[in-house]
Amino acid sequence: MYKKNIIVFLFTTIISAQSLENPNTSPLHILGKISKENQKIENTDFFNPEWVKDLKLLLPCKDIKLPKRSSRLPNAPRTYRNGTHRGIDFFSNWGTDVRAVAPGLVIRADHNYKEYPAKFREKMLRSSGSVGHTPSDIFNNVLLGKAIFLDHGFELIPGFRTISIYAHLSSIDKDIIGGAKVEAGQYIGKTGNSGTKASTLGTRREAHLHWELILQKDNREIYLGKDIPYDKLYEMLDNIFVKKLD
Ligand SMILES: [Zn+2]
Repeated sequence: MYKKNIIVFLFTTIISAQSLENPNTSPLHILGKISKENQKIENTDFFNPEWVKDLKLLLPCKDIKLPKRSSRLPNAPRTYRNGTHRGIDFFSNWGTDVRAVAPGLVIRADHNYKEYPAKFREKMLRSSGSVGHTPSDIFNNVLLGKAIFLDHGFELIPGFRTISIYAHLSSIDKDIIGGAKVEAGQYIGKTGNSGTKASTLGTRREAHLHWELILQKDNREIYLGKDIPYDKLYEMLDNIFVKKLD
């Protein structure tokens, strides 16, 4: 009993002495910090830029730049559909080649997409307004237009399954079919404006590639950059995209 008390006394003395010397290096402080950091990394309610600090992706079109305008980046409000932008809008001429940002497997390729009638699209947007958000069926089937989804498995970001989405396309390469393997930088289709109001009205205006990356873990999913303030978001995305695409 006496020995045990001595040990406890010595241990608390060492901890207090260290804490007095420098509270930031005390064992208790360090232990607390490590567990807080783990909680932050594990918590999938909030996007953590740490998850993607080593992520490198190719830009989806040749000679295209990451847009600077916040309206073209994740988190921009999309009031017309009662929603929030989850991806990046790369504006480019109609028919620009689109490439895979990373290796993956094709899980959706809308070769037979037929544009929805303008009135039907508007009706769906009114439904979005009534339910207070953009329902996933309307988003995925009507608003994305002709789209490709690629499955990147767990290879891109440690601990997460990721998928990339390429929307509003005007055409899809014939080799891009369900289950097909795609290399990073491989040509997959061409930009367009399918799924937009301009397209339902029969024009080619507003052609752009909508691209997004979804991270999945623990029965949840979160889009790349969710709720990250603009400056940090731009810096993070700029660090992710490799500049040159040959
Ligand atoms: Zn978009």
